[in-house]
Amino acid sequence: MIRQEGVVMETEEQKNFFFETGIYRPPSEGGSYSLLLRFTRNCPWNQCTFCSMYKDEIFSMRSVEEIKGDIDTIACLCDELKDISWKLGFAGEINKPVIIEMIERHPMLNVHQGFIMVLNWLIVGAKTAFLQDANSLQMKSDRLVEVLKYLRQKFPSLERVTSYARSKTLAKKSLEELKAIYEAGLDRLHVGLETGDDELLKIVKKGVTGQEHIDGGRKAMEAGFQLSEYWMPGLGGKSFWEQHARNTARVLSGMNPHYIRSRPFVPSPGSPIFDSYADKELQLLNGEEQLAELKVMIEELDVTSKVCFDHAGNYWRNKKGYLLFAQDYEGYKFPEQKPKVLSLIEEGLEAQRITPHNTELLRMI
Ligand code: SF4
Repeated sequence: MIRQEGVVMETEEQKNFFFETGIYRPPSEGGSYSLLLRFTRNCPWNQCTFCSMYKDEIFSMRSVEEIKGDIDTIACLCDELKDISWKLGFAGEINKPVIIEMIERHPMLNVHQGFIMVLNWLIVGAKTAFLQDANSLQMKSDRLVEVLKYLRQKFPSLERVTSYARSKTLAKKSLEELKAIYEAGLDRLHVGLETGDDELLKIVKKGVTGQEHIDGGRKAMEAGFQLSEYWMPGLGGKSFWEQHARNTARVLSGMNPHYIRSRPFVPSPGSPIFDSYADKELQLLNGEEQLAELKVMIEELDVTSKVCFDHAGNYWRNKKGYLLFAQDYEGYKFPEQKPKVLSLIEEGLEAQRITPHNTELLRMI
């Protein structure tokens, strides 16, 4: 059973199996069936106008004891599953008879959302974990180091541990602190860049400047982290598209992260920016304009990163009606595949001129 704030646990068994997880994780972590561990709750910033994820929630820290308690609970579940597997003659393999036996022993696991997540993680080899929620680096560094060491000690099969982080937080931590966190076992950071344009960063209340994005990202890489930066094509609408494209390329080139991931902007209901869209203050780009913006950004991008379109929001199609870009998590290696991406954009622009896509529906999702 996942423990959520305010949930009453009635039986001893429920208490024993309770651990807490949040809602959100990057698609690449879903693709690798990562173990989701909640280190903090919600977002400590929570002001970005395009974001609706935690708007009704309040940020809170979790104690080292609480997090270690969750890790212990998950470890107990794993140990019992493996015991059953050995007893049934499956040599530790987690398969259907093992899961049935486990549920017969503990029927409440049938409705335990976290149990499925743990099963999937075990079945694929228990290799990756993701720390929730929006900025685990907000924790005091010594506490984060302590729980990371504990996590790695409890689950030695882990090959990669990832978290979301804010550039501002990374820029504020010392290089020594970041190195200690990396050495304790956090390998990869996903950071929301959104744009490199200072004017637009201010308008959307990202709480960071382009230079702080560069400083935070560079420092994280110097500490050893693999860095994944998300940008939002279309965020500036018709008024800011060009400066958004050029400054995003400039800031990303100044940082040169391992991954650059495209998350096209869609005004989401519940986010402050949705009202600007509804009031027609914000004019969105159509499909052709989005690709024209993308073309400027990619042309000016001078990096050795992998550029990824690994999200359904990258909806553009080619002339045959197929998705324009591969949506895999490793993307296109730059600079080698930059010409390929530019030629795909040209193909998409041509397709848009023949059959403009109706992005109106997409905007309302
Ligand atoms: S920092 Fe991330 S989670 Fe927090 S409000 Fe901004 S986009 Fe949303």
